[in-house]
Amino acid sequence: MKVTEHIEKAGGKTLFSFEVVPPQKGKNIQDLYDNIDPLMEFRPPFIDVTTSREEFVYIEREGLLDRRIVRMRPGTVGICASIKHKYQVDTVPHVLCGGFTREETEYMLVDCHYLGIENVMALRGDAMKHQRYFEPATGGHTYANELVRQIKDITRGKYLHDTVEAANKPDFCIGVAGYPEKHLEAPSLDYDLKKLQEKVDAGADYIVTQMFFDNKRFFEFVERAKAMGINVPIIPGLKPIAVKRHLQLLPQVFKIDMPEDLIRAVEQCKTNKEVRQVGVEWCIQQSKELKEAGVPVLHYYSMGKSDNIKAVASAVF
Ligand code: FAD
Repeated sequence: MKVTEHIEKAGGKTLFSFEVVPPQKGKNIQDLYDNIDPLMEFRPPFIDVTTSREEFVYIEREGLLDRRIVRMRPGTVGICASIKHKYQVDTVPHVLCGGFTREETEYMLVDCHYLGIENVMALRGDAMKHQRYFEPATGGHTYANELVRQIKDITRGKYLHDTVEAANKPDFCIGVAGYPEKHLEAPSLDYDLKKLQEKVDAGADYIVTQMFFDNKRFFEFVERAKAMGINVPIIPGLKPIAVKRHLQLLPQVFKIDMPEDLIRAVEQCKTNKEVRQVGVEWCIQQSKELKEAGVPVLHYYSMGKSDNIKAVASAVF
């Protein structure tokens, strides 16, 4: 079922969902299931599976270092199929512009269709670590709105080689990213919102936001998006702070602000166990307020660890 159908079916009740990251190549998929298992009691209607950008690895060969570009966490579509089968839940593979040609994207979408995956999250991806700015793959997309257009084309039977008339066309529900504190490269929030609107105009069905720690930023973002005519569901993305280092790391990576009260509470902690407790409590308060405001879904970034998400969900759902 589509994410938007789950939202409609819920009739105003806030749903619970979360995102998982594929294991590193060669690592055990059981670890992923072990993190999903404790969250299934909160009945997520869908689970997102991220796609990672490729990265450089150095392989030693006869005393020389050979530099290779490798995708260290492959398997997004396979994991989506396996979670769907194992837990009888819908899954949302993240589809990236970065590192993929249009053909490769088309093959991935065809696989999704054959596997009965009805939702995809269309994203540009970040620049690779050695790049200052994002560079598309040769023959790939530069911005997420182009990717949305390609996905939408396929739902109309329009493939790269030709238009195909078939009875059972893929009918993807398309999610895109939104940024309550603006995307780090955008010159202003208004500019970023216009680009978000382009993604919706191209065919996006819903929006999931970047993490934020101040609900005011989310509420203002939703208000401004609606004023611009963006009328698709906007799902808040949340992450509980887990270690002291997050105070510097999260603003650095995502260009987001931390509220003063949260900074003070984390700084007073003597151990990361205490930080984790502060993070969980903060996230519970955020979740309760958002739920009260009637958000369609509370979407959690699990980052491979489910215990703190479980603690939050237990208090909220
Ligand atoms: P876009 O919408 O293309 O926007 C990128 C930037 O370009 C913005 O600053 C925007 O304002 C600007 N822009 C957009 N269109 C145009 C245009 N036509 N002309 C000029 N400027 C334009 N990353 C991963 O690698 N894997 C994941 O699985 C993943 N999952 C994510 C899930 C969520 C919910 C979110 C919020 C982010 C996720 N990301 C993921 C990170 C995301 O890939 C990065 O934030 C990336 O830098 C931007 O992606 P986007 O889809 O928002 O890009």
